Amino acid sequence: MAILPVLSPLALSRELLEFARVFKDAGHSLYFVGGAIRDSLLGRRASDFDAATDAGPEAVVALFRRVIPTGIKHGTVTVLWRGQEIETTTFRSEAGYSDGRHPDQVRFGVSIEEDLARRDFTINAMAYEPFERRIVDPHGGAADLRACLIRAVGTASERFDEDGLRILRAARFASQLGFQIEAATLSAMALRGAAVESLSPERVRDELSKTLMSPNPSRGLRILEDTGILVRILPELAEGRGVEQKGSHVFDVLDHSLVALDAAQGGLELRLAALFHDVGKSRAKAIGADGVPTFHRHEEISATMTEGALRRLRYPNATIDSVVHLVAQHMFNYNDSWSDGAVRRFVARVGRESLEGLYALRRADATGMTGFGTDGRSLGALRARVEEVLAADSTLGLKDLAIGGKELADIGVPRGPVMGRMLAELLEAVLDDPALNTPGRLIEIAGLMKGKHGLGP
Ligand code: ATP
Ligand code: MG
Repeated sequence: MAILPVLSPLALSRELLEFARVFKDAGHSLYFVGGAIRDSLLGRRASDFDAATDAGPEAVVALFRRVIPTGIKHGTVTVLWRGQEIETTTFRSEAGYSDGRHPDQVRFGVSIEEDLARRDFTINAMAYEPFERRIVDPHGGAADLRACLIRAVGTASERFDEDGLRILRAARFASQLGFQIEAATLSAMALRGAAVESLSPERVRDELSKTLMSPNPSRGLRILEDTGILVRILPELAEGRGVEQKGSHVFDVLDHSLVALDAAQGGLELRLAALFHDVGKSRAKAIGADGVPTFHRHEEISATMTEGALRRLRYPNATIDSVVHLVAQHMFNYNDSWSDGAVRRFVARVGRESLEGLYALRRADATGMTGFGTDGRSLGALRARVEEVLAADSTLGLKDLAIGGKELADIGVPRGPVMGRMLAELLEAVLDDPALNTPGRLIEIAGLMKGKHGLGP
């Protein structure tokens, strides 16, 4: 049970008061609105302050020296003020969302109350007037903050039809704030779920990332599952529900992934990898002769499915590459019998720069089996062995080999696939025995290998 918050008094910085003063001196009203008011009342550090005013966008541009016309058609400009960027929007009301994304009409020159009525949730629909020190709260946002509730402004189903992103935002705020979603709002999420299908992948991606980066990401994802949204945006993850596992696993594949995700404290790539690392198990599952399920090569299937999902959501290539790599490599199984060669091959396969991420994924994965434990012992032992190998400055990749393509060409190996295979075999030999890594020894071995690859002596 969450501890109900006592709302903090709002204390604005001097810079923000001076910003508001510019509007007041010009005869305009100025309110601070949205997330910053919500977070300040919760006693959290508010990140960026947004403002609302009766001044039209051109008037705001004229009042300040440094202004970016962020969305001037919709009345939004960004004022650069004493090192802060303050998104400043002219009071507006919105009407008609025939595409479920953009209002067909925006109307300026309305009141702060009308402006608040277009906002998504009551806790985001409060405004603060800094000179009278008055909170404008027509929708009961402060009461919902105290009750830890996310409640749509107005009729939830209509608000979700207007903009399906609000459905994902509700789940995201639940994860970020640890709040419940009020009953009518929650059932409208389920009823209007189809609205998320007209969202651009980029908007879905950004909400997913914010949910994953929150303190309790599984909370939002479980809400999305319960309301039937998860299967619409991440069908491959939803497949893991009910896929039972074996051995020390106590959860099905989806619960395992969610517990691993909560345990994955780190950056976005690690969290995505924790969420997706077993996504292929639903398709890899087979029942062995003894009746025990097997998941052969599930890491490869998982890597392919992860790549598909992240591409669909338009994650950047660099993110996709790292996440897919972690997923593909997550099935290593260290024990004391690994030879130094095996440790070197592990480092060569994973890459130095991915080692820490892979260890963190393994800790999260281990926690996800039962909800406890972190596989600390065998990971600690592996880490020590890896450090020895790295300290010995061993050869770990083709670029560290004492010879390259040029030297092979000199002894008559044509450039192409055969050369590639020979270099890979030379690397394998050196990973097993680093003493072989001299030009003389490698040329000698290459000479012996030529016959096997169909080249004359
Ligand atoms: P954070 O910045 O922490 O993500 P926020 O509440 O400030 O949270 P923003 O996306 O910055 O969210 O939006 C600022 C305000 O604009 C919100 O508090 C809300 O009042 C309003 N708002 C944003 N997106 C929507 C939307 N899709 N529908 C209705 N109102 C919205
Ligand atoms: Mg904000």
